Amino acid sequence: MRAWVLEQPGAVETHPLELRERPVPEPGPGEIRVRVEVCGVCRTDLHVVEGDLAPQRAGVVPGHQVVGRVDSLGPRTAAPPPGTRVGVAWLNRSCGTCRFCQGDRENLCLDPVFTGWQADGGYADFVVAAAEFVHEIDDDAEAEQVAPLLCAGVIGYRAFLRSGARAGSRLGLWGFGASAHIVIQIARHAGCEVHVFSREPAHADLARELGATWVGTSHQAPPHPLDAAILFAPAGELVPTALSRLDRGGTLAVAGIHLSAIPALDYAEHLFHERSLTSVTANTREDARALLRLAREIPVRTHVCSYPLSEAGAALIDLKAGRLRGAAVLRVGA
Ligand SMILES: [Zn+2]
Ligand SMILES: [Zn+2]
Repeated sequence: MRAWVLEQPGAVETHPLELRERPVPEPGPGEIRVRVEVCGVCRTDLHVVEGDLAPQRAGVVPGHQVVGRVDSLGPRTAAPPPGTRVGVAWLNRSCGTCRFCQGDRENLCLDPVFTGWQADGGYADFVVAAAEFVHEIDDDAEAEQVAPLLCAGVIGYRAFLRSGARAGSRLGLWGFGASAHIVIQIARHAGCEVHVFSREPAHADLARELGATWVGTSHQAPPHPLDAAILFAPAGELVPTALSRLDRGGTLAVAGIHLSAIPALDYAEHLFHERSLTSVTANTREDARALLRLAREIPVRTHVCSYPLSEAGAALIDLKAGRLRGAAVLRVGA
C-alpha cells in the first residue's frame, strides 16, 4: 500500500514526509483494518510533521480524520462487520482503567494512544484501529464532507461546550480555519452571535459568508464585550488579548494541542471579575458521536479543499500558509 511516512520531523517546506510502499497492516485482537476513502488534514498533523509535538515513533504515518470501510477484522473481533462505513479519529484508544477513563473523561486518559502520532494514521491506503473506538458513518454521507468533522469538528464542538456559550451569547473566535468554520455553524444554530478575529482575508470572507455578526483582525476591539471565546490560532500572544475582550464571567477556551508562549497576564485586566481561561484536550467517543449527530441535524456544510493522496505535502504547506478556505482533505480511495 501507499503510505506517507515521517522518519524525522522538519519544516514542511523541506518535505519531511516520504511516500513509500508498505505492507498492508494486519489488525490484532480487538482491531479492525479500514480501507481509507478520505483522510482530513489537521493542524495537529502539521505539529507532528514539524516536531512541535515530540516524536513518539519513527516512521509514523500521520492523519487522524479517516473515513473508510472496514476491510478485515482481527482475531476475537466481532464488529463492526466488513463493509461498514466508519470514521477513525484522534483518540485511537484509551487505557480503560485509569481514574479518568473510569469517570467518563477518557479524553484525559493517563495512557492514551493517538492516531497519526503513536499509531499509524490515514495518510495511507489502509489504517488499523481499535474496533471500539471507531465511529459509524452513514453510507450515503459524502466522505469529504464528513472527514473534517472527526477532529476539526469534534474538537471545535468540545471547545464550544467548554466556552460556556449558549443561546444569546456573544462568542468570539480567534483564527478561522477548519475547526472554526464548523463551530460558527454550531454556534449560530445554538443562537449565538459570532465575532471572528482573523488576519487572513480568505478566512474573513468565509466567516462573513457563514453568518459572523462582526469580523475584524486579531487585535481589533469588538463592538461589545464577549461572553465566551475560543482561541483556535496556535498563538499564545493572543491569550491576553482574547481575555481582555471578555465581559465579566466570560470564558476563553484554548482549542489547540500546541500553543506558543503566553505572555504574562495581569490579574485585573485579564482574569478578575470571574473570567476563566481553560483548554481543550482531545475528546471522548461520546463527544464525537454527539457532534456527528448534531452535524447531521443542523446540517453542517463543510467547506473542503481536496487533494489527491500524492499531494499531502502541498496540503500541509497550504494549511501552514493560511491559504485554505475551510478544511483540507486527501482523497485516498473509492
Ligand atoms: Zn485511561
Ligand atoms: Zn486533529
